[in-house]
Amino acid sequence: MSSTPPPSSQQAGGRFGLTEEQDDIARMVRAFADDEIAPHAIDWDEREHFPREVLVQAAGLGLGAIYTREEHGGSGMSRMDAALIFEALATGCPTVSAHLSIHNMATWMVDAFGSDELRARYIPRLAAMNLLGAYCLTEPGAGSDASSLQARATYDAAADEYVLSGVKQFISGAGAAGMYVVMARTGEPGSGPRGITAFVVDDGTPGLSFGKHERKMGWRAQPTAQLLLDDVRVPAANRLGDEGTGFRIAMAGLDGGRINIGACSLGGAQSALEKSVQYTREREQFGAPIAELQSVQFTLADMATDLEAARALLWRAAAALDAGHPSKTRLCAMAKRTATDLGFDIADRALQLHGGYGYLTEYGIEKLVRDLRVHRILEGTNEVMRLIVARDPLGTGA
Ligand SMILES: Cc1cc2nc3c(=O)[nH]c(=O)nc-3n(C[C@H](O)[C@H](O)[C@H](O)COP(=O)(O)OP(=O)(O)OC[C@H]3O[C@@H](n4cnc5c(N)ncnc54)[C@H](O)[C@@H]3O)c2cc1C
Repeated sequence: MSSTPPPSSQQAGGRFGLTEEQDDIARMVRAFADDEIAPHAIDWDEREHFPREVLVQAAGLGLGAIYTREEHGGSGMSRMDAALIFEALATGCPTVSAHLSIHNMATWMVDAFGSDELRARYIPRLAAMNLLGAYCLTEPGAGSDASSLQARATYDAAADEYVLSGVKQFISGAGAAGMYVVMARTGEPGSGPRGITAFVVDDGTPGLSFGKHERKMGWRAQPTAQLLLDDVRVPAANRLGDEGTGFRIAMAGLDGGRINIGACSLGGAQSALEKSVQYTREREQFGAPIAELQSVQFTLADMATDLEAARALLWRAAAALDAGHPSKTRLCAMAKRTATDLGFDIADRALQLHGGYGYLTEYGIEKLVRDLRVHRILEGTNEVMRLIVARDPLGTGA
C-alpha cells in the first residue's frame, strides 16, 4: 500500500499516546482507506453503491471481526484498536466505516452471548465478510424508547423454535446482510426491558422481507430499510443469551457501537481538516493564500483542537470499555456525544473555509457534512447520551 500517512503520523515516534503496534495498525488502515476507499467515495455516494467488494478486502486485513476473540475466529483486538481502525477507515468514507462498525457490533454479540455452536456457525463467515451482520433494535414506534419495542417472539415447544413477528425500522444493511441480530419481546406486552430477548435470524428465512430502500441525506453508500418479520421461525438454538436478557445484550453492543460511531466522526473530521489545510494554502484572494489570514488560521487551529479533545475522550472511553470499568457506559455516552457533535461541526467549518467550492460535490466536503449529520442521531441520539450521563451528574463512576 502506497500512500501518505495522516500528518499527525509523520511526527517522530508516531501519534502521541499510541503504542508502536497501534500506530502501525492505524497507518496500515489509513493506507487502505487512501488507496481503496477515498478515490471512490463520491462516486459510491452519487450512485448509492454499496461497496461489498471493498468490505471483503477489509476482511482480508482482519477487520471483519476486530474485537471478536481469536479462538472463535476473530482478530482479538481491543476497543482502542477498533477506535483507531474506524477513524482511519472513515477518512476515506464515514459511511463505509460505519457499516463495518455495525457489522462488527453484530459479530461481537454472537461471540459474547452466543453458544459455541452459534459461534462456530457464524463467526468464520462474518470474519471473512462473505456474510454481513446487521443490528435490529429500532421500531417505528420505539426509537429512543427502545425498551418499548413490540416485535414478538413466541416459543413453540413442539418444534423448539421461536416465531417472530413485527417491524424493525431504519435497519442498516437490510437486504444486503446475511445475518440479523433481532431484539423481540418474549415477555408479556408492557414487560419493559426484562421481557426482551435477542435472536440471530438468517436472511432467506420464510416470512422475512424488507421495506423500500430509504432515500437519505447521507450514508448513501449503504442501504437502509425496514426489516419485516411475518411469523419467521427461528430455531431456539439461535437465541443469544437467556430469555429476558436481550435488552441488556443490545445495550452492551451499543457501548462499543458508540465508540465506533464516534471514531467514524473523528475520521470524517480529520479528512475535513486535511482538505481545509490544503485548500486554504492553495486558494488565493486579495493577492495571497487565504491560509495567511489570521481568522482562517484560528478556524483551523480550533478545528484541530476540537478534534484532539474529542479523540482524547474517545480513547479514554475505549480504554474504560477494554478494562470493563464501571464507568464505561457513561464514558462511551460522553465520547459519542462529543465526537459526533464536534465532528459534524468541524466538517461544517471546513465547508465554510472552502467557500462556494465546499458546496460542490466534487470537493467531498458537502458529503462529509451529510454523512456525519446522522451520527448525532443513531446509536442513541445525543439527547439520549445526555440522559445516560445525567443519571450520575456528579460523575462518581468516571
Ligand atoms: C441512517 C440510519 C441508520 C440507522 N441504523 C439503525 C440500525 O442499523 N439498527 C437499529 O436498530 N436502528 C438504526 N437506526 C435507528 C436510530 O438508532 C434511531 O433513529 C434513533 O435511536 C432515534 O430514534 P427515532 O428516530 O425514533 O427518534 P425519536 O426517539 O422519536 O426522537 C425524536 C427526537 O426526540 C428526542 N428525544 C426522544 N426522547 C427523549 C428524551 N427522553 N429526552 C430528550 N430528548 C428525547 C430525540 O433525541 C430526538 O431529537 C438508524 C437510523 C438512521 C437514521
